[in-house]
Amino acid sequence: MSFFEWLRSVTPDEIKVYYWAAIKIYGSPWFYLGIAVILALEWVRPAVREQRVFSWGLLQDFLWFNLDLAFKAAAFPAFVGFLRLLYARATGGYVVPVLSEWPLWVKVLISFLIFDFLQWFHHWVRHRISALWQFHVIHHSQRELNLFTDLRVHFVEYLVAQVITFIPMFLLGLTPGAIVGTGFVIQWYTRLIHANVRTNFGPLRHLFVSPQFHRIHHSIERRHQDKNFGVILTLWDRAFGTLYPGYDEYPETGVEGVLFAPPSGLSPLAWARDLGGQVLYPFRQLLVMTRGAGSTRTPPRAGDGPRDAPEHAGGPARRPPPGTREPRP
Ligand SMILES: [Zn+2]
Ligand SMILES: [Zn+2]
Repeated sequence: MSFFEWLRSVTPDEIKVYYWAAIKIYGSPWFYLGIAVILALEWVRPAVREQRVFSWGLLQDFLWFNLDLAFKAAAFPAFVGFLRLLYARATGGYVVPVLSEWPLWVKVLISFLIFDFLQWFHHWVRHRISALWQFHVIHHSQRELNLFTDLRVHFVEYLVAQVITFIPMFLLGLTPGAIVGTGFVIQWYTRLIHANVRTNFGPLRHLFVSPQFHRIHHSIERRHQDKNFGVILTLWDRAFGTLYPGYDEYPETGVEGVLFAPPSGLSPLAWARDLGGQVLYPFRQLLVMTRGAGSTRTPPRAGDGPRDAPEHAGGPARRPPPGTREPRP
């Protein structure tokens, strides 16, 4: 028996089904065509004209994209399957009885609304809780926002996010295909809103999150901070007072004092060190926070200093003092 046959025989069906769904999605040529279309949009209508389509920032986030693929192929389906098993054990597989009778499209629509709200909610939480921000800051630190930035997400963030977002889907009795499919559609959307594309979606801007809307969220400028947390609908930001009303601004992005400057060359070692530095950064920060608890200094916020303070590749030059970060520096 080969290793793979053995692996198949010992993997529970509840987990296997997520692997099949992931293979189907990432093996599709449409996936690669979609990426080509967004890159073309970045070329035709860039939000920041000075940013090249094939920038070093793109390569940096492409590495995150691959790390994400590896993570999703190796651990994510097992994690969702494991969550489902835990859920079944804890609740006996409880499904809201009324909804389970409804057609699939109604369930998908309702779960989308719940999912979108929960995305807004845990995004907001990741900005408010200092320990979680240390992981989320990796996503925000990109100065050359691009279509792969949506996957510039630390795996610890995924684990927190999935627990929050998948439990309601189990409650609604959605099939693994519908769950992974919903996640897939949302992923394409988030890929588009991170792209360096100049559009606010015209009249649809009041309803849907656009690349311009999300660029405000990534802005390095203080007046934009802690705004526009939404992922697909602008409804939640509107309802909870976190919406930024300017629809024609395309600010520079990043976090003041935190820069992971991509290596400007193709040395594999330099890129591996760059990626490793980003993965380890939050853990280092947490260590510093636990050691230095009690400090009362206010961390640097965007706008407090010169935009391009001297920083070095692989980590921030000025790290916020431990345990003192205000929500979203
Ligand atoms: Zn954020
Ligand atoms: Zn983002």
